[in-house]
Amino acid sequence: MPQPRTDLLRALPQVEELMQAAPMRALENIIPRVMLVDCARAAVDAQRKRILAGEAETVDAEAILTTACNSALATLRPSLRRVINATGVVIHTNLGRSPLAESAVQAVVEAARGYSTLEYSVTNMARGSRHAHVEHLICTLTGAEAAIAVNNNAAAVMMVLAEFAADHEAIVSRGELVEIGGSFRVPDIMAQSNARMVEVGTTNKTHPADYERALTPDTAMLLKVHPSNYRMIGFTESVSKTDLRRIADSENTRRHAAGLDVPDVLVYEDQGSGAFIHLDVFGEYAEPTVRESLQGGCDLVSFSGDKLLGGPQAGIVVGKKEYIDRLKKHPLARALRLDKMTLAALEATLRLYLDPEAALREIPTLRMLTEDATVVRERAEALMHALRKRVAPRQAHLSIVEETGRAGGGSLPMCDIDTFCVRMEFKAGNAQNCEEHLQRDREVPVISRIKRECVLFDARTIAEGDIPEIVDAVGSYFDTLASAKEA
Ligand SMILES: *Cc1c(COP(=O)(O)O)cnc(C)c1O
Repeated sequence: MPQPRTDLLRALPQVEELMQAAPMRALENIIPRVMLVDCARAAVDAQRKRILAGEAETVDAEAILTTACNSALATLRPSLRRVINATGVVIHTNLGRSPLAESAVQAVVEAARGYSTLEYSVTNMARGSRHAHVEHLICTLTGAEAAIAVNNNAAAVMMVLAEFAADHEAIVSRGELVEIGGSFRVPDIMAQSNARMVEVGTTNKTHPADYERALTPDTAMLLKVHPSNYRMIGFTESVSKTDLRRIADSENTRRHAAGLDVPDVLVYEDQGSGAFIHLDVFGEYAEPTVRESLQGGCDLVSFSGDKLLGGPQAGIVVGKKEYIDRLKKHPLARALRLDKMTLAALEATLRLYLDPEAALREIPTLRMLTEDATVVRERAEALMHALRKRVAPRQAHLSIVEETGRAGGGSLPMCDIDTFCVRMEFKAGNAQNCEEHLQRDREVPVISRIKRECVLFDARTIAEGDIPEIVDAVGSYFDTLASAKEA
């Protein structure tokens, strides 16, 4: 017979009782008392709610105390912390996109620890420019005349539109009015920067004549947006950069001949992923490089620092010097500027590209994307063997399975990346509970995925050094099962 509710409510421990318990008293040495009281109260309240909802049939004061202690301990953990990415998604936006190369990490540490030449030129022994640290490298690597880096690519797009298309018309294909991750939608960014959006073409097909017909003396820009995270296939057509260049050139010639006192129409591409190296392994679907976009005739091209480039979060605009100079003077360039740590990471990442082989080897994003599947398989096997030493056959069956991965981060959406996973099929416990333990109860959470009641650890995005931590985490899951049984 279940106890009546009032009995249960009466059996709930007082917050003060919990505070007197030995584990709580021990925590008082490391956690402020007010926070402990909050955690104790929250644990009691949660149990009271369960009783009132008819979800609890007993009151276990010990369990409430454990919950309170665990949530108190959780407050000690930093909110932003390392996780192990066993999802196989290389540029995982929720997990921080691109991990930095070792030399970039070192550069960040150096810049963060002390003073730096952030805005000082030792050559001139006077004030220097923050932009100077990366501009020359970006130009060397892309063939651009000039460059500027800001906080992220969304900021870069915003700044370009605000400078060149505010109160003017910018023509964009309906096939390119994209949304990239919840909060970046091309029409919204245009509205925000006061550019008047002129949509042309249809969802699947846009022709050069569509742009030509939409031109007016008020047109300031032909905007091309790379449909980063999707591709249209079948009956589709879009207008190439070279065609946009041709359309802009003939319009500009016409304007000059007519003596019109309006600025030139410029061609701007929001390229998104920011490839500096053509990744041949992805064949026809490899992302075009920034250099190719410039050679195709764009006046300006913008892209992210932490997608295919594999550096820190940043937005980079490259192109004609006269235009970049105007951007450098825009108030948004000041508001959206990079801090010294990001600049340090960006400069170090760019330096690696001076030797493309070093870039492919040392920039984690590039290495993971291009690593041979046989090497990934070897790492999967190493993980499986390590797991077998900790996990008994009666707990789980372990095997290697072939899977197809994705680059993520709105890059290479058409590219299947062959990969190998360790699959864990449960003989004790289950995939959902295990995943919960791996994410919620671990100092370093392990993010895996579930497929058909099995947990998969994708070896493409895990490092050799992650293996002991994954083994520990999985072992600890089966330990909690065993101790729950004993209790
Ligand atoms: C990713 C992306 C953005 C946004 O870039 P952030 O660096 O994330 O701000 C904008 N445009 C395109 C085409 C993208 O792919």
